[in-house]
Amino acid sequence: MTPDLTGRTAFVSGGFRGIGRAITAALADAGARTVSCGLTVPEHPVRSGDRHLAVRADVTSEAEITELAGVIRERFGGLDVVVCNAGITEFSPIEQLTPQRWRAVLDTDLSGVFRVVRALLPLLRNSASVVLIGSRSATSGMPAVPHYLAAKAALTGFARSLCREVGDRGVRVNVVAPGAVETDITAIMPDAIRERLVREIPLGRLAVPADVAGLVLFLAGPGAGFINGEVITVDGGI
Ligand code: NDP
Repeated sequence: MTPDLTGRTAFVSGGFRGIGRAITAALADAGARTVSCGLTVPEHPVRSGDRHLAVRADVTSEAEITELAGVIRERFGGLDVVVCNAGITEFSPIEQLTPQRWRAVLDTDLSGVFRVVRALLPLLRNSASVVLIGSRSATSGMPAVPHYLAAKAALTGFARSLCREVGDRGVRVNVVAPGAVETDITAIMPDAIRERLVREIPLGRLAVPADVAGLVLFLAGPGAGFINGEVITVDGGI
């Protein structure tokens, strides 16, 4: 059942491509006003018009995220849904992983979430829903992504601390942990890993972005009103 988000405002980081684009579309289809950010504003954002905003904002920049919060306050007054989806990854065995690449991934995938949540928290209306996009592999493990999975695993602790701080305002914080999803990130996955993965997934395919968006949409709505501090996997049963 699609929740009715008419009158609600939702923010999605990394909302221009892949999973974030599907999430933005699902929230808009459910009636929400949407704000999405990313590094390069696409020529054709998911939605246009008065109720939708696509802005450049880099989650690694304190200044850009602070400015973004100001823009959202001015345009929409507050937020009912925040989805921290922006993320980068790269495959690198630990011997080849440089401290610079370690820091870059952590700065986007973990500190980026901190920056966005800290800046947007004052805008959250009562009963708002915060969703962090983690990774199923943060629990199961995967070779050659120690930086990425260190960041994704840390989101669980972040969510479980935050939900205890903001629960008295009715704000819920959950992590959605996808398995492999067909996006630009998995397009760089070596063929051998992809084929092995598909064989292991009982549903016989990788996820598509809409599979993840469906769960985020549910968590955004009143049907998930007592689900809090959870890590929910979307992985086809692997
Ligand atoms: P994509 O690479 O397709 O899209 C990533 C999005 O994040 C883009 O819109 C990009 O912006 C944005 N982004 C990247 N860096 C920044 C930054 N510094 N500031 C703002 N926005 C940024 O990724 P996916 O859709 O595959 O992944 C989305 C999330 O899901 C990530 O957190 C990823 O770790 C997670 N995930 C993905 C899985 C998969 O198999 N695909 C599996 C499990 C988790 P722009 O468009 O401007 O480049």
